[in-house]
Amino acid sequence: MNPLYASMPTTIFEEMSALARATGAINLGQGFPDAPGPPDLLQAAADAVLTGSNQYPPSMGLPELRRAVARHYQVHQGLDIDADEVLITSGATEAIAAALLAVISPGDEVIVLEPTYDAYLPLILRAGGVPRSVTLEPPDWRLPLEALAAAIGPRTRAIVVNNPMNPTGRAFDRGELTALADLCVKHDLMAICDEVWEHVLYDDRRHLPLFALEGMAERTIKIGSAGKIFALTGWKVGFILARPRLLAPLARAHQFLTFTTPPNLQAAVAYGLGKPQATFDAMRADLQRSRDRLAGALTAGGFSVLPSEATYFLCVDLAASGVLGEDRGICRRWVRDAGVAAIPLSALYASVVGPSSLVRLCFAKADAVLDDAAKRLSQWREVQLTARRTM
Ligand code: GLN
Repeated sequence: MNPLYASMPTTIFEEMSALARATGAINLGQGFPDAPGPPDLLQAAADAVLTGSNQYPPSMGLPELRRAVARHYQVHQGLDIDADEVLITSGATEAIAAALLAVISPGDEVIVLEPTYDAYLPLILRAGGVPRSVTLEPPDWRLPLEALAAAIGPRTRAIVVNNPMNPTGRAFDRGELTALADLCVKHDLMAICDEVWEHVLYDDRRHLPLFALEGMAERTIKIGSAGKIFALTGWKVGFILARPRLLAPLARAHQFLTFTTPPNLQAAVAYGLGKPQATFDAMRADLQRSRDRLAGALTAGGFSVLPSEATYFLCVDLAASGVLGEDRGICRRWVRDAGVAAIPLSALYASVVGPSSLVRLCFAKADAVLDDAAKRLSQWREVQLTARRTM
């Protein structure tokens, strides 16, 4: 067996969800909404199952979905792209795998930002690449441009950029992204942009795709996901946008990973991407309310909450909240004793020992669930503090 996989633990997301299922805890760990999803998209998918084709669609994706993705990015992000620059994948994770397999030759160095989404490093290693991690620092999580520049060497081939960034909740600003684009151009790097959170930004922020910046369209592989756009994470319909020269090898990688993606879900996503701006604004506004509700309740309960500019997530700082212990241990105790599952951030660091005091919580849940979770965590914290005072 390959030692990389043989020694690999189950992902922290699956581990915490399994613990939540086993204990009946509220699951604010793995990032998924608990609402059933937009009814019209569900109906469109059901109709497509019953009346559409259930045979292999084209490997590149249904033509109607490729057109819808191109149009969607023209309308929402002002990108100058065409349907033949779009490839449909089975979720963003497959898109990332296809991109890394197609881009990396053995020995190529690939820069990743830490904390890092857990799929990147194993995929880079399996493709024969050498990951070079650059660490972001809380609570601002700004792009460390000097460290990035210092990490680039003669073998550096690409950088993986998750923007907006999970688990930090950061949406990088124009200044940071322009400086990053300059580095990519100067050192002839490819940018593999995981932008699955591109519609989930708050406080009037707009997503800025690296693809749109000077000199980047020719070197960017932009990845998106219907699961995150429509709060249907189980659908696993992703898309890649890249100029034809880059897209062709990606399509070859994709054809031997999953070959294609269920046609009915593709048809429903094509319908969804064409919905009016107001639909996307409403989804954002709903999530922003949920973010503020959870942040407010946790703050009232004595927790120190870090800012969240984007994604389904916010982080709490345990030490600053008066909670003693490291994040993994605390998350296990929360599931068992407080009945709330969360994600310890240190699980998302590989090259360095990450901060052991930050825990990620998903707020894409109903108000009552968020209120209940905040109450449980606040009570648990109170019990800890009281026990310490009386010792
Ligand atoms: N993207 C999800 C999260 O960050 C996890 C997806 C998964 O479990 N593979 O929580």
